[in-house]
Amino acid sequence: MKVGVIKENAPGERRVALVPEAVPRLTKAGLEVLVEAGAGDGAWFPDSAYSEAGATIVKTTDLFATADVILTVTRPDDSQIARLRPGQTVFGMLAPLIDPQLAATLASKHVTAVSLDGLPRTLSRAQGMDALTSQANVAGYKAVLVAAAVYGRFFPLLITAAGTARPAKLLVLGTGVAGLQAIGTARRLGAQVSGYDVRPASKGEVESLGATFIELTSVASAAGEGGYARELTEDERAAQQAELTNHIARQDVVITTAQVPGRRPPLLITEDAVKSMAAGSVIVDMGASPLGGNVAGSEPGETVVTENGVTIVGAQDLPSTVPTASSSAYSRNISALLLHMSSEGTLAIDTSDEIQAGVVVTHDGEVVHPAVAKLLGSDREGAR
Ligand code: NAD
Repeated sequence: MKVGVIKENAPGERRVALVPEAVPRLTKAGLEVLVEAGAGDGAWFPDSAYSEAGATIVKTTDLFATADVILTVTRPDDSQIARLRPGQTVFGMLAPLIDPQLAATLASKHVTAVSLDGLPRTLSRAQGMDALTSQANVAGYKAVLVAAAVYGRFFPLLITAAGTARPAKLLVLGTGVAGLQAIGTARRLGAQVSGYDVRPASKGEVESLGATFIELTSVASAAGEGGYARELTEDERAAQQAELTNHIARQDVVITTAQVPGRRPPLLITEDAVKSMAAGSVIVDMGASPLGGNVAGSEPGETVVTENGVTIVGAQDLPSTVPTASSSAYSRNISALLLHMSSEGTLAIDTSDEIQAGVVVTHDGEVVHPAVAKLLGSDREGAR
């Protein structure tokens, strides 16, 4: 089986799906690795490193013409989709619940789609394949560095001959994978850190990192299924925003990471809360998206300064700004999944396996993932 690594085409994307270190692991399992020329350049992995590791560097046309399996980080673009052939398989973070139309297109081309973001994350044998976690870790780390770079003071307590600087007060809203990494990173930089989440289980995790957990009296537990949060009701959301505002007003830096699977990110910091912050404060909104983020006024990919002097960074694509680390981790995730789904050097699609049932989106010309098929079905219903 020939496994092809494509050069990512999305604007600003610097990651690569497979790094040279992973090549021997795949070749030992009987797979042949092809790499599109320049695929690793953005993450500082030159073609020569892939060749030395046992891969063959090929032109774009040859890669799409000969690979049985294509490895990618994000969704292939239209020109890449046009090159896909029936019987090929694409592995990547294809976000089929956000973009089910891609699944419909790949199914109609008889391309098998395997999406790492569908992995059952609580399964311990799947942890090495969990790309959402590995990329969220990188994003949480980088969000703190972005905040520190924008902030006009020090994070740590500094006592110098020129005076004493108090430590920055930093609050992390949403303490899942990215939030916990942000807390750890901010603590290492010396900030005074607190965290808040709607899942009560996260209290112990926040405190184990040496940060203070903020408990709100107005919102009950909102733990949902599979370790995720559920969406808050209208009343809960208003109460949460009002109570959070008191805490936010006292912060120098706030980092927001709150997400609810399949829903738009919840608004946690209202316009009033932003207005309550002192000039020079910084907010990094990791939930910023075209649908709106965790922070009123945040723009995805943009940095805005409010009239009262608060800098709001709409953080987007943070993992691709730390491309070597995020690619290395992603490469381990994708090769573990590929090897799990391979047998004697060929791909063995079997959706009776719990891991495969989560990640296989299309196969044999059909959208086989029930949640994605349901979304497409309801689209068709809506069109009637
Ligand atoms: P996520 O990216 O979906 O959300 C980030 C955080 O935002 C979550 O902690 C969520 O509770 C929080 N949130 C959502 N709405 C909120 C609101 N209105 N106010 C405040 N916070 C809000 O989550 P994630 O980081 O992918 O992880 C979620 C959970 O899954 C965690 O419990 C994590 O430990 C767990 N997880 C477990 C495994 C495993 O068992 N191997 C792997 C990955 C994640």
